[in-house]
Amino acid sequence: MKIKVDDRGYYGNYGGAYIPEMLYPNVEELRQNYLSVMEEDGFKKEFDHLLKTYVGRPTPLYFANRLSEKYGAKVYLKREDLCHTGAHKVNNTIGQILLAKRLGKQKIIAETGAGQHGVATATVCALMGMECVVYMGEIDMARQKPNVERMRILGAGVRPATSGSKTLKDATNEAMRHWINDPVDTHYVIGSVVGPHPYPDMVARFQSVISEEIKWQLKETEHVEDPDYVIACVGGGSNAAGAFYHFFDRDRVKLLAVEAAGHGNETGESAATTVLGKAGVLHGSKTLLMQTDDGQVVEPYSISAGLDYPGIGPIHAHLFESGRAAFYSATDEEAMQAGILLSKLEGIIPAIESAHALAVLDNITFSPDDIVVLNLSGRGDKDLETYIKWGKY
Ligand SMILES: *Cc1c(COP(=O)(O)O)cnc(C)c1O
Repeated sequence: MKIKVDDRGYYGNYGGAYIPEMLYPNVEELRQNYLSVMEEDGFKKEFDHLLKTYVGRPTPLYFANRLSEKYGAKVYLKREDLCHTGAHKVNNTIGQILLAKRLGKQKIIAETGAGQHGVATATVCALMGMECVVYMGEIDMARQKPNVERMRILGAGVRPATSGSKTLKDATNEAMRHWINDPVDTHYVIGSVVGPHPYPDMVARFQSVISEEIKWQLKETEHVEDPDYVIACVGGGSNAAGAFYHFFDRDRVKLLAVEAAGHGNETGESAATTVLGKAGVLHGSKTLLMQTDDGQVVEPYSISAGLDYPGIGPIHAHLFESGRAAFYSATDEEAMQAGILLSKLEGIIPAIESAHALAVLDNITFSPDDIVVLNLSGRGDKDLETYIKWGKY
């Protein structure tokens, strides 16, 4: 099946650019230039060079022997947890900030919830000598103190969003306001496949390096390019989009997306958008989102900060509606158990986001020859406190 954005920025029924008129010139400049810049030889060379020498790509495609024995299939882990800064997010921030430089921008702004995207952005701004301002809800700043300090050590300014619920959506509003007031020399880095067109497509392309590598790495070890399954967790959906990208039109490859079910999808404390959401507009695009009957965004809940988002990117809304990807959800409990299992079986403590993807291995009956690639989006260092509080290890 072809999964491709159309000229208007839509994937099937989802996407587009629902933005205030004041923001139109900024987004339009990006839309007109992103593809031509990304296709320039010089741009590609610089991007690839940094992915190799700075991020540490290609990341290994690791055959997980003991995990494979347990699940009765050939389970490979795509080790995005070994990227510099500990997750896949840096692939995108490097891409966008290189692009911003090509467009003559000198300043970078971003918003962040848990602080992971803020840290990835501050890191690359330090690397490239760009001025960096990150907006973060006041409540999130208190909850995620180490990431706030990381950003400051890296030279970024962290500005609290003090309106509304003082969390991610308020930080997003502040960042947009900043961009409207400072459009000429500033680029706004969005951290997932969300936001107005062209962001979802641009971010998916930067993250597609993940599936590009999986293909040749599988060829080396299994002498085939297509696995039977690709599994990834979905917050906004960027690591999943990157892991699925080069398999979209390979219909025999089953794509499994895993959302966070929090305390359970019936408890009112969940972040499983495809189970609980309806179509609406969130952060500049038409997509599925969790909302009340009169259209107010519902606060999501997950133990994992990276999956605690009330929507999914439009590409995932389309993957869900078209049936090209199968959507699962894992509860806090299931994810924590899966994270501890991986630690004990393979000596890898995963990010709790990634542990949600691991949890669905329990729900599938594999044949012994099945090749399963699970995208391990990040490492668990940042989640140590949560593991300790959880205690059951
Ligand atoms: C941010 C994050 C996610 C969720 O973001 P996506 O855009 O859905 O990939 C998943 N895993 C880790 C480790 C993260 O830091």
